[in-house]
Amino acid sequence: MKYIDEFRNKKLIGKILKKIEALSPKGAINIMEVCGTHTQNFRRFRLDKLLPKNLKFISGPGCPVCVSSQGYIDQAIQLSRQKDTMILSFGDMLRVPGSKTTLEKERARSGNVHVVYSALEGIKLAQQNPGKKIIFLAVGFETTAPTIALSILAAKKQNLKNLFFLSSLKLIPPAMDYLVRDKRLRLSGFLCPGHVSAIIGTKPYEFIPAKFGIGCCVAGFEPLDILEGILVIIEQLIEQRPRVDNQYRRVVTPNGNLKAQQVIAQVFRSNDAFWRGLGKIPKSGLKIKNTFSRFDAENVFGIKEAPGARQPARCKCGDVLKGLISPLGCPLFSKRCNPDNPVGPCMVSSEGACNAYYKYK
Ligand code: SF4
Repeated sequence: MKYIDEFRNKKLIGKILKKIEALSPKGAINIMEVCGTHTQNFRRFRLDKLLPKNLKFISGPGCPVCVSSQGYIDQAIQLSRQKDTMILSFGDMLRVPGSKTTLEKERARSGNVHVVYSALEGIKLAQQNPGKKIIFLAVGFETTAPTIALSILAAKKQNLKNLFFLSSLKLIPPAMDYLVRDKRLRLSGFLCPGHVSAIIGTKPYEFIPAKFGIGCCVAGFEPLDILEGILVIIEQLIEQRPRVDNQYRRVVTPNGNLKAQQVIAQVFRSNDAFWRGLGKIPKSGLKIKNTFSRFDAENVFGIKEAPGARQPARCKCGDVLKGLISPLGCPLFSKRCNPDNPVGPCMVSSEGACNAYYKYK
């Protein structure tokens, strides 16, 4: 536990909190994070109780499961109903509502939906089940994309004819570009995601201070990391010098992981993507390139993602994901909607804001 304890040291936490308290300018300070682990750990370590009252820490669209659109879930359900298909999915996705039903209910009905922990499991299952069409639900951000790209390359190398990928992979910087333009949020700064930044580096955020005058700090996930990141943003505000700082230098570099970026670029191209709650964001998704189109489930099965599928009634996930309201602002929170009976995706995944608020309320 040596390395974790250091980042949870109460004395150091106390010192940083004092600095934040002393330096924080008057008036509203709105800092947004776009990372499910930041969402979770901010609530888990009760940092909300420790920060000055005028500092609002807003959770944005950082949970990959939560931002998958209803149209994508519907698409996956339709594929599971095709003859001889086997859908492979990360566990959290099963309970995310589509417009009428969930993959979990489809699994109970048809048995065609299976939980896996990695895209690479698809290779083995495709070899073991030559009579089945294996379809992997590729969701996640820049962090997940390299292993999915590697799985597609491995499938090509092994000349697998029965393994396909339904990509709903998403890119964080275009979503931040969308959010920073929303005047209702009045953002003072972004706490940038540590995992995503390990892949892409710090440079892709530079347009935010340059174009919008909003500061950024890449931060790790322990309490000291998060508080240091917040302190750095406050210092930027005082100096009136918005920039991209990096608190997570033990993992993140300016250029990121070039090998991972290379493998992503080899297999995917960017495309316009649908985000639950946020709608269509230009160049915010990863689509399988034409050279690998025989592995692209959308292309092979001809079932498209329907835009604008309806949200569950009264669910405010859209506003929660945009950071316009906290989960407590949803009338269903903790009443009709809870982790045992989630109405919307933000209550399903442990990285979802509603789930974190419920768990640590
Ligand atoms: S509490 Fe439930 S219904 Fe309300 S926004 Fe969150 S997930 Fe949706």
